[in-house]
Amino acid sequence: MKEKIFVTKSSIPSIDEYMDEIRDIWESHHLTNMGIKHMEFERKLKKLLCVDNLELMVNGHMALEMTIQAFGFKPNSEVITTPYTFASTTHAIVRNNLKPVFCDIDEENFCIDSKKIESLITPNTVAILPVHVYGNICDIDVIDKIAKKYNLKVIYDAAHAFNEEYCGQNIATFGDASIFSFHATKVFNSIEGGVSCFKDLTLKDKIYSLKNFGIKDEETVRDIGANAKMNEFCAAMGLCNLRHLENEIEKRKNIFELYVDGLRDVKGLRINIPYSTVKSNYSYFPILFDEEKYGVDRDWMKKRLEEEGICARKYFYPITSKFDCYKNKFDINNTPIAQKVSESVLTIPLYSDLKEEVVYRIIKILRNPR
Ligand SMILES: *Cc1c(COP(=O)(O)O)cnc(C)c1O
Repeated sequence: MKEKIFVTKSSIPSIDEYMDEIRDIWESHHLTNMGIKHMEFERKLKKLLCVDNLELMVNGHMALEMTIQAFGFKPNSEVITTPYTFASTTHAIVRNNLKPVFCDIDEENFCIDSKKIESLITPNTVAILPVHVYGNICDIDVIDKIAKKYNLKVIYDAAHAFNEEYCGQNIATFGDASIFSFHATKVFNSIEGGVSCFKDLTLKDKIYSLKNFGIKDEETVRDIGANAKMNEFCAAMGLCNLRHLENEIEKRKNIFELYVDGLRDVKGLRINIPYSTVKSNYSYFPILFDEEKYGVDRDWMKKRLEEEGICARKYFYPITSKFDCYKNKFDINNTPIAQKVSESVLTIPLYSDLKEEVVYRIIKILRNPR
């Protein structure tokens, strides 16, 4: 029986490195509530991401939810977003009592189609919430112009884009805010974790307060907050993994390039190559299947890979506007491209220590569907 190959595998430091990192926590008995590891992790992230303001969070979802909340939009206001994303993006809008307005995606890079945003703006629109899907970067310049023209906020779900650069500038610096996820399955992890980066310093107090029950000081509770603090053990894992980040991404790049070389000429398969303006983190390897040209469809190939012990993921399927929990709430026909892509996409295994022989095996299967 061959070893089962998952679509991703969490990066971890050596156990000794982690033990060394958590020793201070043991000695201090300070396990959470913005301790020394939390502070050090924030300091290092600020430097890496080239931002002045950020707040660590328990996960990427809460970073997004609380960042949206901090802007204080009027209930039922509209947020223009994409349905081609992880559940988190849409849920974060809805859980803030706001209304997602779904814009279709660009067929080429799977991000929100910036040409279609303007026609969706109404007097109730307050923000645009695009996603840098698979680490592909949205049309930042166009989105920025639209936002300025209509006085809208831009909040990027950058969960896939950690440590990337667009035109030589760190991706965390764009928009009014960007959030990242440090979930175990992401390029960079702190077991669970996330961060909110934002331009306006006056939001800092609010976001900090929201992640800690809205507590202002010993006797004042000012906001209806929740609990979204990152604990010291997660921060310690983040500190360890940060040391290996460049190396991890380099290893991913090698695998990514093997896939590109092996699959770029296959009729009926479309692969996703980063644009030259983007310094990629090589987070995912999505493939689009054109059944007519390729001979078999996405679902067939997913099963075929499974027979070989290889897990591939329909990421993203279904589009969020089709979720059961949103039944009859949205007109799913407004985003035909997102719908089409979600029905033909498969992301294949990609992680730093994926063995070359496995990569070649996957390429061989994909090159010979029958
Ligand atoms: C992972 C992810 C999130 C949520 O991050 P968590 O850390 O898992 O809460 C949000 N948006 C997108 C696009 C993601 O992939």
